[in-house]
Amino acid sequence: MTHIITSLCVRDRGCIEVCPVECMIPGFPLNEWPWIYIDPDTCIDCGACIPECPYAAIFPEDEVPSAYKAKGGEYISRVGLTGHFEGVNHHGNKISLDTVKQLAAGEVVDLTPDIKPNYDFFKNGPGYSSKDNDTGA
Ligand code: SF4
Ligand code: SF4
Repeated sequence: MTHIITSLCVRDRGCIEVCPVECMIPGFPLNEWPWIYIDPDTCIDCGACIPECPYAAIFPEDEVPSAYKAKGGEYISRVGLTGHFEGVNHHGNKISLDTVKQLAAGEVVDLTPDIKPNYDFFKNGPGYSSKDNDTGA
C-alpha cells in the first residue's frame, strides 16, 4: 500500500520534511501537477505526514474517502478547475494556484479519483525530476 495526497492539497509543504524516506515530491508545472505527490514504491506507510497537514489532505490509500463531506471553505485542486487560490506555505513562501474550486459546507466530493495521479506522477509524469524545478512554491 501507500499513502495518498488528495486534491485537498494546496501545497502547504508542512508534510515534506517529516517523511523519513523523502518520497514526497512537489509537482511542476503547477497547472499539470498541482499537488505534492507520494512515491508509492518508496512510501513505508509510517503515517508521519498525516498530522503535519493542516488541510487534512493525506490518507492511507485504502481510506481515501469516496464521499468527503466538506466543512465549507476548503479548496480542492485538480487539473481542469479554474478557480484561484492564494496563500502562504509552511515556509512563508507565496502559493498561487489556478486549478482550484472552493467547497461549500456539506458538499460531497469523491476523492478516490485522486489516487491515480499519485501513481501517474511517478510512472508517466516528471517524478523525482520535478525537484529540479522546485521554486519553493
Ligand atoms: S501538508 Fe497537506 S496541503 Fe501541504 S503539501 Fe502536504 S499534503 Fe499538501
Ligand atoms: S506515510 Fe510515511 S513514508 Fe509515506 S509519505 Fe507519509 S511520511 Fe512518507
